[in-house]
Amino acid sequence: MIDDPLHALVQGGLSKLALEDPDLWDAMLAEQRRQAGTLSLVASSSVVDPSVLASQASVAVNVTAEGYPGRRYHAGCEAVDDIERLAVDRARRLFGARYANVQPHSATTANYAVLSALMRPGDTMLGMALDSGGHLTHGSPAAYAGRYFHAVGYGLTETGLLDYDEVAELAARHRPRVIVCGATAYSRTIDFRRFREIADQTGAYLLADISHTAGLVVTGHHPNPIDHAHITTCCTHKQLYGPRGGLILSGEDADGAAPIGSGTLGDFLQRTVFPFYQGAPALNVIAAKARALAIAAGDDFRATMGRVVALSRVLADELASKGHTVVSGGTDNHIVLLDLTPLGITGVMAERALQECGIVVNKNRVPGDTKPALVTSGLRLGVNSVALRGMGATQARACARLLDDVLRAVRADGPRHHLPEAVRDATRAAVADLCARFPVPGYPVPASVLSKAG
Ligand SMILES: *Cc1c(COP(=O)(O)O)cnc(C)c1O
Repeated sequence: MIDDPLHALVQGGLSKLALEDPDLWDAMLAEQRRQAGTLSLVASSSVVDPSVLASQASVAVNVTAEGYPGRRYHAGCEAVDDIERLAVDRARRLFGARYANVQPHSATTANYAVLSALMRPGDTMLGMALDSGGHLTHGSPAAYAGRYFHAVGYGLTETGLLDYDEVAELAARHRPRVIVCGATAYSRTIDFRRFREIADQTGAYLLADISHTAGLVVTGHHPNPIDHAHITTCCTHKQLYGPRGGLILSGEDADGAAPIGSGTLGDFLQRTVFPFYQGAPALNVIAAKARALAIAAGDDFRATMGRVVALSRVLADELASKGHTVVSGGTDNHIVLLDLTPLGITGVMAERALQECGIVVNKNRVPGDTKPALVTSGLRLGVNSVALRGMGATQARACARLLDDVLRAVRADGPRHHLPEAVRDATRAAVADLCARFPVPGYPVPASVLSKAG
């Protein structure tokens, strides 16, 4: 018998859900089974710790608390103030930042809060082009950033490396108000110091968006932009293995003057999130952020990030040695980007064939891609989830073998794909075996997964 209210509330809620809403229950259960029985190589996803999940299921969700700890527009915020202060303190310590705002609902929201506070409609920004690996919020014409600002895009050199000379040249020519660095599909280290030099030469603010590499940054496996960029943003659900949400951070520049209005840059960023861009924060999510940030400061997390870079390198090397085209020639982070053009198949065909086998990846455009975003010529792979599951170099080689088997066997059949049954069955069995042997720590392995493993 559990007699504390936290357990009682969540367990009571689960029982009620099972009883009263079987449709929703079944869909949630199916998703839990799917995750347990598939190999996720989706670069933009990870898996939360069960204690992160539990933090998000707290009654902090019931609190409306516009404003910041100690300065709210509502009463009754003492306990949630403590939750938010914990999250802010942990974010600052983890990144070595002077300023942290944990309220953004996502990285998209964090970026748009910053961009729309720094710029007026029509002002110029410079970000990595979507096709070269940049994010929608960095200036894509398909997104708000590209529609409301004059967005200029930089790209890659012939060898697939970030073209800093082009960044410098475009910055000198267009004099952007903001330069954005950071990427969503780029597998190499980013030189934040170089970006800051360019920003300083052209009088721009530098925004570093490290959504993809935040975990590697906090463990020192990737350079930290905090004291190079004026402002750093990231999401908490990719490499921090936390809830869906965003962070805004600042280092040495936080105490400098506000770009607009009174006070410091830190004061400006506080105003930027609330009241300028967002309403009340999601305090249950902030509780989950606080928990994830604490885990990210621990030794287990450091070991996981060590495995991330090791696994990713093995995956890239093995695929290259089997004749596949790795964009940028390799990887320094968790991402391996494949160009499928030489195989004569599209990204969507490969994605679907792999999904049939229980391997989840995402199609992705590659530099110079002529295919639309829902077709593409590439695949983006990432190892955050498999590293968390405790897999090592041996399993990375096994993954490369499975990917190679499927990618070589899949054939274009008009716009559809065809995968021979024998390849599908053998791959499925190997995937089930890996999933059963490497469960996510703290997650139960459903009987349906164990029964499929050899
Ligand atoms: C994923 C991503 C985002 C958007 O994150 P959301 O929290 O899903 O809005 C922003 N920037 C980069 C570089 C990303 O990779």
